[in-house]
Amino acid sequence: MISVPKGTKDVLPSQSYKWQYIENCAREVARVFNIREVRTPVFEHTELFARGVGDTTDIVNKEMYTFLDKGDRSITLKPEGTAGVARMFIENGLASSPLPMKSFYITPCYRYERPQAGRLREFHQFGVEMYGSAEPAADAECIFAASSFLEKIGIKNVRLELNSIGCKSCRADYNKALKAYFEPHLNEMCSTCKERFEKNPLRMLDCKEEGCKKIAAGAPRILDYLCPDCYAHFDEVKNLLAAQGLDFTVNPGIVRGLDYYTRTVFEFVSTSIGAQGTVCAGGRYDSLISELGGPSTPAVGFAAGLERLILLMENTGVEFPAPPVPDIYLAGMDAVTRAKAFELAASLRREGIAAECDLMNRSLKAQLKYTDKSGATYVAVIGGNELAEGALNVKKMSDGSTRKVDFGELINYIKG
Ligand code: ATP
Ligand code: MG
Repeated sequence: MISVPKGTKDVLPSQSYKWQYIENCAREVARVFNIREVRTPVFEHTELFARGVGDTTDIVNKEMYTFLDKGDRSITLKPEGTAGVARMFIENGLASSPLPMKSFYITPCYRYERPQAGRLREFHQFGVEMYGSAEPAADAECIFAASSFLEKIGIKNVRLELNSIGCKSCRADYNKALKAYFEPHLNEMCSTCKERFEKNPLRMLDCKEEGCKKIAAGAPRILDYLCPDCYAHFDEVKNLLAAQGLDFTVNPGIVRGLDYYTRTVFEFVSTSIGAQGTVCAGGRYDSLISELGGPSTPAVGFAAGLERLILLMENTGVEFPAPPVPDIYLAGMDAVTRAKAFELAASLRREGIAAECDLMNRSLKAQLKYTDKSGATYVAVIGGNELAEGALNVKKMSDGSTRKVDFGELINYIKG
């Protein structure tokens, strides 16, 4: 038997309603924020992620699904959603469209990781990208969109953690301070940290090795190195959140796993799903578009991992809406009444009613047993009498009551 590849999952018919629910919530939040959907390819030129995500990140260093296609091009399955949207923005000259461009995506992502709870090789993200505004209000709107989404799906026990990692100019001073701090500890640190020490010391704060984490805990804090502009920007973001009563904690340890961030970074963290507690993460990336060759365009966004959210919802008993059930099951007894059931089902479906009839040539008894399992709201059996009368005894399954309904009245009766 061929099994599903490691780190991937099927969504079974009995589970897909959860996915539809969470995706509908995302779309509804996007609607009220006037954020439009975009769709970009699942694969891109490898170069896009190497430059966009950054070659000192775990994603680019270890996790990408990269291969040569038949034309010898290096192709990579998207490990995240931002780089593709940024490419789309540049390639289509959207900098000259009305800004800000507020867009969202729901996309599969691919990372070669060690699979565990909440960590897969194929996973899905709902993400928002806002391009064109450098204002703190854009950061705040983005954070509110993320928070509204989490609230809408019913997640309560998450904490918003906020930080600013400054701009290029304040980061230069900070990098010096970090290097001075880490230098005497370097021989106790992992090889990745040693490499990052040279290329991008900020990323050393994001190391997952216990030994490195301990050392990083004593590092100087970026917030003490912010330039006046970055400081004021961060202050204003905090004010805008506080003014709407959105709670947050400032966590100077958040630097994010991607290289392109500047200024605001944030994570929504849950305490209910162990190590993989970050369910939504984002921030500002003002230099990404220009680094990818586009016109200098400030940007802010976030991405939420849908598998982790579903896991969190299941673990904390958040109610999903009930799975869909057929409105009515029409049982037939012989060739003629089955044909009538088929015909009635077709006419009900044209009116938007979820109608089912037998496709398995089952006995009446077996049909009724199946109906019980399918959870249909109403059930009606069509026999010879019903055909002759042009009316059905429609049984309401929730209370067992029946009502005689003319064939022609069926639609109105079910629509209630
Ligand atoms: P982590 O530190 O857990 O590896 P990350 O920093 O790599 O996360 P991002 O690149 O910011 O994560 O992705 C945004 C969100 O996507 C994460 O907060 C998480 O919910 C989800 N996510 C990331 N990687 C995976 C994965 N391998 N499987 C499932 N969800 C993931
Ligand atoms: Mg990761």
